[in-house]
Amino acid sequence: MNNDDHTNESKTARLLNLQLVRSIVNNDENMAIDAQQRLAKFENSTYDTTQYNCNQCLDTGIFEGKQCKCLRTKIKNTRYVKIFSQSGLQPEQLCETFATFDLEYYKDVKISDKIDMTFRDSATRALMGAQAFTNNCLNNISGRGMYLFGEPGRGKTFLMNCVANELVINHKPFLYSKYDRLLVEIQNSYAVDSKIKTEHLLQAVMKIDVLLLDDLGVERPSDDAGLKLYRIIDERMICNLPTFITSNFSIAELGSRYNDEMLGKRITSRIAQLCEISQLYCQKDIRMVKAKMLK
Ligand SMILES: [Zn+2]
Repeated sequence: MNNDDHTNESKTARLLNLQLVRSIVNNDENMAIDAQQRLAKFENSTYDTTQYNCNQCLDTGIFEGKQCKCLRTKIKNTRYVKIFSQSGLQPEQLCETFATFDLEYYKDVKISDKIDMTFRDSATRALMGAQAFTNNCLNNISGRGMYLFGEPGRGKTFLMNCVANELVINHKPFLYSKYDRLLVEIQNSYAVDSKIKTEHLLQAVMKIDVLLLDDLGVERPSDDAGLKLYRIIDERMICNLPTFITSNFSIAELGSRYNDEMLGKRITSRIAQLCEISQLYCQKDIRMVKAKMLK
C-alpha cells in the first residue's frame, strides 16, 4: 500500500468517526448506527478479517433492531466524545469544518484603495493560517498562535470551529471558550463557597494543550479581566502552548480599551509575541447573507 492510500484511508476513517461523534452529541441514534455500520464495513475491508469484535451484532451496531450494547459502550468510551465533552464546544459547532469553509463568500475584488489585497486573498490567508496552526498543534510543533480579527460575521468563529473539529477527530485535548464566559466562571470561583478554586481553573486554562479563545473583547475591560487575560497569555507563551484567539478588535484597539494604559500595552505586546496576526475581510456579514438565502 502506498502513502496516498494510507492518507485516503485515514481520511475516510476520520470522517466516519466525525460523523459518529456528531450523531452521538446530537443524540441521533439512526445516524450513530449508520456511522457505526459504515465504520465496521470500512474496518473489515481494511483489515480483511472475518473475526468480529461483537458476536451479537457482528460489528454492525444493531442488535434486534436496537443500538447494540457494544455500540453504547463504544460511545461511552470513545476518546472523541471525551475530548468533545471536556472542550466546551457546542454540538452545532461540529458542522463547521475546513471542507465546508467556502471561499466563494469572499469576493475577488480589492478591499480598498489603501489595502492592496482582495477579500478572497484575506480569506485564503486566514484559512491557510488556521490550517498551519492546526497542523502545528497535531504534530506538537511549537509554532506561534493565531490572532484572527475582523468585523462581526466575517467567518472568524467558523474558522475557529474548523480548527476545533480537527482537534476533536485527532483526539487533541483543547478548551474552547468565549472570553466573557470564561471570565464569568473565573469570577464565580471567587465566591467563598465555590467548589472550584480560582487558581485551579486558571491553571487548567493556562496549561491545556490547545486554547481556543473566541470573541475576545466583548467582555467589559475591567482591570480584573485584563490581569487574568495577561496571566493566561503570558503563561502560555512561556510554556510554548498554542493559542488561537478571535476578536472584533485589532490588538491595538483591544489594548486601548483598558483604563490602565500600562496593562493594555502589556496585553498588546504579549499577544503580538504569542500570535501571528491576521485580519479577515469580507464585504458582507456572512450570517446575514446566509439568513437571506434561507428565506
Ligand atoms: Zn454489538
